[in-house]
Amino acid sequence: MSVVRDGIPASPGIVIAPVRVLRWEVPRVPHGAVISEDRVEYEIQRFRDACDYARERIRVLQERTARTVGEVEARIFEPQVLMLEDADLIDGTIGTIRENHLTAERAFEWRVLEWESALSHSSHPMVLDRLADLADVQTRVLRRLMNMPDPDLAARVDDGEKYILVARELTPSVTVQLDPKTVVGIATDLGTRTSHSAILARSLEIPCVVSVGNLSDTVHDGDEMILDGRTGRVVLAPTEEDREAYRQRDYLIREWEQELVLLAHLPAVTRDGSRLVLRANIDLPGESDHARDHGAEGVGLYRTEFLVVGRGTAPGEEEQYRAYRRVAESFPGQPVIIRTFDLGGDKFPAFLHMGREENPFLGWRAIRVCLDEPEVFRTQLRALVRAMAHGEIRVMLPLVNEISEVTRTRVLIDQCIGELRAEGHPVPAVYTLGAMVETPAAALIAPELAKHVDFFSIGTNDLVQYTLAVDRGNSRIASRYNPFHPAVVRLLDFICRSGRDAGIEVGVCGEVAAMPLGAFLLIGMGASSLSVGPPALAEIKKVIRSVTYEDAAAGVAEALKASSPEEVLQVLTARLGRVLDLNKFSASLGLSRPE
Ligand code: PEP
Ligand code: MG
Repeated sequence: MSVVRDGIPASPGIVIAPVRVLRWEVPRVPHGAVISEDRVEYEIQRFRDACDYARERIRVLQERTARTVGEVEARIFEPQVLMLEDADLIDGTIGTIRENHLTAERAFEWRVLEWESALSHSSHPMVLDRLADLADVQTRVLRRLMNMPDPDLAARVDDGEKYILVARELTPSVTVQLDPKTVVGIATDLGTRTSHSAILARSLEIPCVVSVGNLSDTVHDGDEMILDGRTGRVVLAPTEEDREAYRQRDYLIREWEQELVLLAHLPAVTRDGSRLVLRANIDLPGESDHARDHGAEGVGLYRTEFLVVGRGTAPGEEEQYRAYRRVAESFPGQPVIIRTFDLGGDKFPAFLHMGREENPFLGWRAIRVCLDEPEVFRTQLRALVRAMAHGEIRVMLPLVNEISEVTRTRVLIDQCIGELRAEGHPVPAVYTLGAMVETPAAALIAPELAKHVDFFSIGTNDLVQYTLAVDRGNSRIASRYNPFHPAVVRLLDFICRSGRDAGIEVGVCGEVAAMPLGAFLLIGMGASSLSVGPPALAEIKKVIRSVTYEDAAAGVAEALKASSPEEVLQVLTARLGRVLDLNKFSASLGLSRPE
């Protein structure tokens, strides 16, 4: 009998292959580790040598990652380098060796335990990522001290067999060494969608499921497994029927993808001639070429905070300028909407020293952080203004709640333009500034807010969580997170009408735009642009080209009268189901998992 386990989908693709369990774990340090006085200096030197070695290994990996994956991705190693230079961690360990006469292994283990307990009260994904970095550093240093084989080499495979890698958690340094020719899938016990390993798995196009729970202890090398990176499901000990069902599903997906590829460069226009603009959401500058190849007409949301998270220091103006310029140059003549740092919530860069908050999603987040940290914000705005010389860059502010947040930002941008002009940089005569509408407060003042911005972009991921008071990251209440709740539908309609009445562009960059029914609803509300992750571009193009605006608008009129999410879904499904086979779509209403 096969066993089905569900985790979080992290990188799409279906694979059926044997498993290899990677035990890249912190080694157990032997007990009885007290040393005599005359060995103290020797232990300290051993510890320093192991740290130097670990730093050098990380540097080599960083260089390799920069070459093979990208410069931004290579920065994921920075926190580990910083840890190896941290006085509290390193000098603290040396102090423990000296005072307690412990071996280097024991002393370092103690110090790391203290760090872990300080960090582990939090369940924020970013803090969890820090713990993974710490474990990586700990493993590397301890293995060196204990004369164990280098973990990087141990992670390699030499027989060329294709397999699914199963691990408790993958650290970035192991992930970048994986060869997509042999590692055809990854499944981990822990991890988050935003964990560095998940980001890298997507860049390397290796199907990946994270957070499966206790998997690495239940499977053994050679066990067969099915992994579905679209749905986040793994099937252990699959039967022939399971294998057949997934082969069939894989075949259908590939066939469907081939059908969609043909649409990539056709315009996003409805059957009755309504033209929409379909853009891409990207998290890393390197994704922009991929998005363009999939037919994106520009970038609707570039999440710049990925330049910042996991960093010990704020990225400078020059580095940001290069990243923004790179994205702008990927889309000559097309808009690239760059969102200013959306920090806080679940993204905490080390250099901001953000304290722990009871309710981080209701706390110091996004535009609030930017306005309170003018130096960080000004550096970003200067980089953005400079990059405007290389493309059609538009600036977008996250989590706007009040008009003053827009007007204060305008003052800062105007100052940056003045300074840059005086310094001899080319600066634009005008610039385009938009607000994300992602709180009910912003939605309800949309008619007034529209007078102060050049465009709206609706962030439905947050708008849904704030409207319904349902945490978007809490799996226990995930079924209550329903973007088709009538309250959300009415707010969306109000925002679209307010923007249209004010004559500004209304785009949508939250996940609702990537759902077939959501896109249909938004088309009917008259949204002018949709922005979705690159994998969803073709499917949403298919929706746009299959429907008429008239039918979608009639669907909206009905949905606005509905009194439950089920009713809204029924109305939309009935209409869209008449023109498309909804079971083929991967997003949300996806191809159902074979049961
Ligand atoms: C949103 O909230 O819908 C959005 C696009 O922003 P993020 O998911 O980055 O919060
Ligand atoms: Mg948001």
